[in-house]
Amino acid sequence: MEVPWLLLVHGSVTALVVVSFLCGQWPIFEGTFIQSINHFLTFGAYHYLLRFVQSVCGTGARDLVLGVEGYCCDRPNPILQVFYVAIIGVTYFIIVQTSFQYIPGYYVSGLHRYLSVVAVSVGAILFVLTSFSDPGTVTAENVSQYVSSYPYDNIIFVEKECSTCKITRPARAKHCRICDKCVARFDHHCGWMNNCIGEKNIRYFVAFLVWHFLICLYGALILGFILAGEIKERKIIYILTVYYGIDNSFSGLFPHVAQWLLAVHNTQILLSVFLAILALLLGGFCAYHAHLCLTNTTTNEVRLSDLEPLKDIQMARLHHVDEKGK
Ligand SMILES: [Zn+2]
Ligand SMILES: [Zn+2]
Repeated sequence: MEVPWLLLVHGSVTALVVVSFLCGQWPIFEGTFIQSINHFLTFGAYHYLLRFVQSVCGTGARDLVLGVEGYCCDRPNPILQVFYVAIIGVTYFIIVQTSFQYIPGYYVSGLHRYLSVVAVSVGAILFVLTSFSDPGTVTAENVSQYVSSYPYDNIIFVEKECSTCKITRPARAKHCRICDKCVARFDHHCGWMNNCIGEKNIRYFVAFLVWHFLICLYGALILGFILAGEIKERKIIYILTVYYGIDNSFSGLFPHVAQWLLAVHNTQILLSVFLAILALLLGGFCAYHAHLCLTNTTTNEVRLSDLEPLKDIQMARLHHVDEKGK
């Protein structure tokens, strides 16, 4: 009994740390303990590491660590892209290795062996589309077109030249310091995609989010049905009530069924909990982006308007001007 609970606690803590590290800076976690854990993992722990390296190995070693950080965070690099592929690949591999033996099962048709391949492949295609498509780079050739589609509101966006690109920066555009280019209707620079999210690829990005939310939900549900099928096929309820004389009620059976599941199927339980947590996070992120789409706002503008005291008036002005321009 002790070991499965230990596994469950271990799984939950690991999921919490992974989630906090990967998603703690998302706007939906602002002010929550997930953001605090993220702050410690990404900033606090790093700060202590730098001090430790400096005191033990000297300034040269500290500068080396800073240089690696500069490469990872300030320049385009595929580290998080590789990490995404690894997470998807390893998770799917573990599911195939540990849970495909139960497909087809009592409640799960054999079709899901193939449907899951299709689901993961569509996710990968959306990832490639978002990562490698043009986010809407503003160039000397297309700048006039963007300036006329996005008129200036003269509050948040004032007509100004980009000091790096040496071209007029259209309203709602931003110069991405990582990609080193101006991007039209800039949303944010996505480390996972190693690309900016802007006017031209936001639709792929949102489709990617929605699709991954659905995949995680699908995986968690199928694993749940596999477990329900195992309980049914192995006649667990029958054995518990007839052979062990357990009271045939939910409260009577639940602890015993849970104990059996944790002992025999702890991998499936951990996988489904992991997928359910991811689905919850992606669901929140999808809802946030759906809200941005419906209000015709970008993540960048939410950030900008948070800096200003008259944000509601400014956002209203911005969208009024934008609509007139269309
Ligand atoms: Zn620029
Ligand atoms: Zn960028």
